[in-house]
Amino acid sequence: MPLEKHVAVCNFPLSSHPRTVAKLVCNLAAAAPNVRFSLLSTAKSNDSVFPPSSRAALLPSNVRVYDIGDGLPAGYDKVASDPRVEADLFLRAAPVNFLTGIDVAVRDTGIKVSLLLNDGLVSLVACELAEKMHVPWVAFWTGAPYALSVHVHADLILRLRQNAADEEQTLDMIPGLSVMRMADLPEELVKDPGTSMISRSLREVGNVLPRAAAVILNSFQEMYPEPLTAGLKSKLSILLFLGLRPSPPASDKTGCLTWLDSQGPQTVVYISFGSGTLTNLTPDEITALAEALESTRTPFLWSLNDQLKARSLPGGFEERTSSLGRIVPWAPQSQVLSHPACGVYVTHCGYNSVFESVAGGVSMICRPVAVDQMLTARAVDEVWGIGIGVEGGVITKIGMVKALEVVLRGEEGKEMRKKVGEFRQRLQVAAGPEGRAEADFKTLVELISTL
Ligand code: UDP
Repeated sequence: MPLEKHVAVCNFPLSSHPRTVAKLVCNLAAAAPNVRFSLLSTAKSNDSVFPPSSRAALLPSNVRVYDIGDGLPAGYDKVASDPRVEADLFLRAAPVNFLTGIDVAVRDTGIKVSLLLNDGLVSLVACELAEKMHVPWVAFWTGAPYALSVHVHADLILRLRQNAADEEQTLDMIPGLSVMRMADLPEELVKDPGTSMISRSLREVGNVLPRAAAVILNSFQEMYPEPLTAGLKSKLSILLFLGLRPSPPASDKTGCLTWLDSQGPQTVVYISFGSGTLTNLTPDEITALAEALESTRTPFLWSLNDQLKARSLPGGFEERTSSLGRIVPWAPQSQVLSHPACGVYVTHCGYNSVFESVAGGVSMICRPVAVDQMLTARAVDEVWGIGIGVEGGVITKIGMVKALEVVLRGEEGKEMRKKVGEFRQRLQVAAGPEGRAEADFKTLVELISTL
């Protein structure tokens, strides 16, 4: 099919963002074969999502990947680096680097860019670029609608925060946010925007999103209160809820699924703190979690990287618990959470992780660490009733023993399982051919093919 349109995709290269954006682009590419997609990100992020050895097999024929500069100075120590510093340097250099990448993609295809599609976190840059190039732009917000609403209303919220009696004050003034508290706001949003590019971007993103041709979410509208979605729709030109589209099954190199097959139904605690870029537990919390698992003899599957494992687990833990659980550096998470043996998920409340847990019908013990995770944890606990937070907000041995008792063995846990099972069914309907997500996806394909 001849290519008629050219969409340049501006990615944010850290945590789960590159994978989430790439998944959407591959889905769009299949649905819009007349559109060429040029995916722009750093070499590190492109290589992690599309390893060079298998890239040709993974990429649809109308998608190309372009490496752009990461903004890091020569000789920068990537191993010892703080991802926040990497994010900051990337964003500083992004306007020039995206433009250079777009020029290469245009030369390559001979087709002018018709639209920018960007990760929501680079909206400030995308908005400027799109206006300079006289093309429309569509922003993909990969977090929760709660966080989107907080950003869209940031100016008002931050003004009110200055006079708030305390951090427990709720955000009643914003439609659909009455459960959220000042304390749940992302740290980067409340910081002085002069301190980092991430803070500046998060402070400004809500002001530029109304200029986007559309804002898209990987959420199911059915999970959110009507005032929240109506409030967002009133501020944005077009808001589309695409739902979470299933990922192809990951390989089980470490034998997690086979091990789960040998465990009883709903008995295993799965532990993972996401891609681990921004969100790791402190060594003390890892120790406390290990002690709680060992003392309660709870079967476990723990996704924990080798560095943290070596630094933080109590001496001899793995040997003493070898018949009880498994520690792996990376798990095929969505399949783990959909396995009948999985009984509870100890999570940082990353957005993908929470919905993989809902899709598996697994309730959660929440230990949010950063960015919008506090808002999502609050939704899991207070709005949907499908999980609980850890006592005091940090993991201690006593707090985790109590939480495991409540969720795995208590009456409250039964109720949570029932609710998450109901949500799972609702999401299956929502994701089906008659669901809103499918209709919104078709609208997006139409936009991209015609704008
Ligand atoms: N993930 C995985 N295996 C692991 C740990 C994480 O497959 O051992 C995946 C998980 O399924 C999810 C993503 O990594 O899709 C993490 O995304 P999320 O939005 O939850 O968190 P982030 O990494 O952005 O903090």
